Amino acid sequence: MTAAAILYETLPSGIARVVLNRPDTRNAQDTAFLYALNEAFDRAAHDDAVKVIVLSANGPHFSSGHDLREVDGHDNMRKHDTVGTWGGFGKPGAEAQYSREQEIYLGFCERWRNLPKPTLALVQGKVIAGGLMLMWPCDLIVCSDDAEFLDHTVAMGVGGAEFFAHPWEMGVRKAKEFLFTADWIKAAEAHRLGMVNHVVPRAELESFGLAMAERIAQKPLFALRLTKQAINAAQDAQGRVGAMQTSFALHHLAHAHNMIAHGKLVDPTGLMPAIKKHDKAAD
Ligand code: ZN
Repeated sequence: MTAAAILYETLPSGIARVVLNRPDTRNAQDTAFLYALNEAFDRAAHDDAVKVIVLSANGPHFSSGHDLREVDGHDNMRKHDTVGTWGGFGKPGAEAQYSREQEIYLGFCERWRNLPKPTLALVQGKVIAGGLMLMWPCDLIVCSDDAEFLDHTVAMGVGGAEFFAHPWEMGVRKAKEFLFTADWIKAAEAHRLGMVNHVVPRAELESFGLAMAERIAQKPLFALRLTKQAINAAQDAQGRVGAMQTSFALHHLAHAHNMIAHGKLVDPTGLMPAIKKHDKAAD
């Protein structure tokens, strides 16, 4: 028996806990993992007793990003009831990958970002590239003082992850540095940039986060929903949705280019060995 990739429980205080539970892979995201996560978010959204959703991760790191070892990702799409209407997961050329990423990357992140209840991510350890796409859609982020963040997709020949929230999460100038250099951002700098709400000691991450969730859960749910909708609308009025569609299209130009140039979705000459070395040294 393998353990469930996503754990789910509800607390009497009106909190749903969703826990990433692939610690052996540093919570790498394959198709089944993302569908299980989406189902957990839907379950919390549909449960009228739930007022706040807390996302956290088992293991030393929040998420290492997309599981690049999944070789049959397109076939695996057919095992799930899709939430979008794209289809075409078995089509040739660039179509299958475009369809897959519309559904499980951009599509899921957009759904989670717009869940009509407050969401709070509790983040520890490393968060790499696609890992950012699990915390950024949440309304609030609390991280431990050992958290650090990296997006090395440019080094891999792709311009940023599929949910391209970088300019909104860290500001335009820092987003460029973050992507161009693939340097790590530490917890304190993430806080200074406004990317996370609070930084707390690792041992206090859960207690601090649950206490905050409980304070939120004491408020009327309808008012929480409306407030979230109003703030999201303000951000969307700045052009977020259109900008993300542009970056998603450019992301797929890069995938198509890499397939022609290298026979892979990403440029294999990128920085993967350096990332692994860093990760090992810090474990
Ligand atoms: Zn992609």
